[in-house]
Amino acid sequence: MSDNPAKQHNELKQQLENYAYQYYVLDDPSVPDIQYDRLMQSLIALERQYPELKTPDSPSQKVGGAVLSKFDSIVHEMPMLSLDNGFEDADLVSFEQRILDRLNLDAEVEFACEPKLDGLAASIMYADGILSFAATRGDGQTGEDITVNVKTIANVPLRLVGEDLPQRLEVRGEVFMPKQGFEALNQAQRDKGAKPFVNPRNAAAGSLRQLDSSITASRPLRFYAYSVGILEGGAISALQTHSQRLESLGKMGLPLCKETAVVTGAQACIAYFNKIGEMRDSLSYDIDGVVFKTNSLALQSRLGFVSKAPRWALAQKFPAQEEMTILRAIEFQVGRTGAVTPVARLEPVFVGGVTVSNATLHNQDEMQRLGVMIGDTVIIRRAGDVIPQVVSVVLDKRPDDAKQIEFPSHCPVCDSHVEKPHGEAVARCSGGLVCPAQRKEAIKHFASRKAMDVDGLGDKLVEQLVEQGLISHPADLFHLSLPQLTALERFGDKSAVNLLRALDDAKNTTLAKFLYALGIREVGEATARNLAMHFLTLDNLLQADIEALLEVQDVGEIVASHIHEFLHEQANLAVIQKLRDAGVNWPDIELASPDEQPFVGKTVVLTGTLSQMGRSEAKAKLQDLGAKVSGSVSAKTDLLIAGEKAGSKLAKAAELGIETWDEQAFVDYLATL
Ligand code: NAD
Repeated sequence: MSDNPAKQHNELKQQLENYAYQYYVLDDPSVPDIQYDRLMQSLIALERQYPELKTPDSPSQKVGGAVLSKFDSIVHEMPMLSLDNGFEDADLVSFEQRILDRLNLDAEVEFACEPKLDGLAASIMYADGILSFAATRGDGQTGEDITVNVKTIANVPLRLVGEDLPQRLEVRGEVFMPKQGFEALNQAQRDKGAKPFVNPRNAAAGSLRQLDSSITASRPLRFYAYSVGILEGGAISALQTHSQRLESLGKMGLPLCKETAVVTGAQACIAYFNKIGEMRDSLSYDIDGVVFKTNSLALQSRLGFVSKAPRWALAQKFPAQEEMTILRAIEFQVGRTGAVTPVARLEPVFVGGVTVSNATLHNQDEMQRLGVMIGDTVIIRRAGDVIPQVVSVVLDKRPDDAKQIEFPSHCPVCDSHVEKPHGEAVARCSGGLVCPAQRKEAIKHFASRKAMDVDGLGDKLVEQLVEQGLISHPADLFHLSLPQLTALERFGDKSAVNLLRALDDAKNTTLAKFLYALGIREVGEATARNLAMHFLTLDNLLQADIEALLEVQDVGEIVASHIHEFLHEQANLAVIQKLRDAGVNWPDIELASPDEQPFVGKTVVLTGTLSQMGRSEAKAKLQDLGAKVSGSVSAKTDLLIAGEKAGSKLAKAAELGIETWDEQAFVDYLATL
């Protein structure tokens, strides 16, 4: 202990107040909860030793944070308190013992057990069954008026159901964001370059405390009721236990957590805690512990409150899912689609039940947004099966010698240049045909049916060939020999001969298929076809600059940049040359004369089931005739070809007076050409 307890107390107090402000008021915590809890435990220990330091304004005596002035405030008729925390089994045993001692009992106590949802507390008042107002907990005495926002939460009833409803009923519960909604919201935040939320609690608080309720409405929030505050009249007033009250709330239409239980004695509480702990990862919502409440309402009122928490409840906490540690280095990994992902190498830290020494930083944008430097103290989050991630940097712990991190301009695996089109968050290696990290996927795609269509060359075989070192890029396929293939495990002579023949056949292709086979990002069959029809020869395409590429139908800036980058990577060009040297060839494209392309300038839509040809065949035929084939009917549509079971598109075309053919009419028309 320090020689100056008052000074130490003051320092702890200031630090805790600062963290509490960031957490409760700004919804933007700067340190993980565990760090706050540790400091709070030190403060409590210090105050136990020096009781004179425990003044009413100490953080150990206060609930939550201040109320934001941008909201109207609501004074709680009954204060909204916090909960005492327990961390070890022994804390539950002494919790029950304290209750027995205080009440002079020697039987075991009955407890209502509830998962401790990690969101924020809300109070919702119903007057004669109608939602009248809702508030945050605020500082426990006064909360923020969030009535409009709470009304947007999908599972909060605006009107209660049933007979004999209370005249006034204050329902207390947690507003939270289910895990799936949280992951989706954060992905959307990252995609638009906005700051993701540190955890679901933070996301729930940030979403609920919005002045614009349409933002709240767009966020996936949910509510579970867990207790009753003000209560006047109604059948519920006669109930004797907390769990009966919850059941009664459920019957009135209020949502409840389904994993609750009633048990007797501390040992049964420990067993319940362990059971919920095992379920934690599989629950659809985040929890940070279990709340144990003395079930008898009579005993609750005899026990009463101490400073900021009731004596009859305990929040038993699970191991933290967020921790602080030091970032030692960053490594850049290349995924199978070429995405370059920054991975943080960390000072190992125990978080979410395991020791973590690596965490993802997602992508270049996220790394820059975090502004992370080597030597920084960072907050790591590891929840369930989600890979550990760096969620924020603790800036006031940045050392003087922290080092800037450069995002690599060249692929750390194959040294091709790294490309990051404007507006995309992910940077990628452009050496798609040569990069060992992307090799297997590139070759699988190259050989696939819609690409070079190499019969008998399935995904497994590609993997085997790459792993044996027999091929490292697509052109190597054409140099495979019979002895090499027959030496492969479970690969017979006949299969080997067939494969070599299929490879030989595949050499005769079309320019469109060849371009598609190269696996240029976002160049699908249709774009490959447009490129072929536009440039006619590969050499023309190789010489095209971005402007020329933008002239191709359906090619926008991002696609143009992908094509340009790919075709300007020397390593890719070398493979293309090797493919040509190996005999890959295609017939010249002859431009159809205008009378062979009667559909030039026309937009055609296909719908329904075609029985005489596949949808892609019909599409290709239309494109050959010069048509633009679109997916939806609009005023710009010139013709709809409708097969069997055509639905809304047919109706829309009729509405817009658009010419419509059935399949037979199209087949008959083709026959006239
Ligand atoms: P608490 O979270 O320990 O417990 C009280 C809250 O639990 C209630 O207000 C309610 O919202 C919630 N709860 C969930 N399920 C419940 C249930 N079934 N019954 C009753 N309540 C239920 O206490 P607190 O005062 O809200 O917050 C303290 C916690 O906040 C600390 O543990 C700390 O980790 C965190 N905190 C973190 C920072 C930071 O900087 N990271 C700052 C301040 C506080």
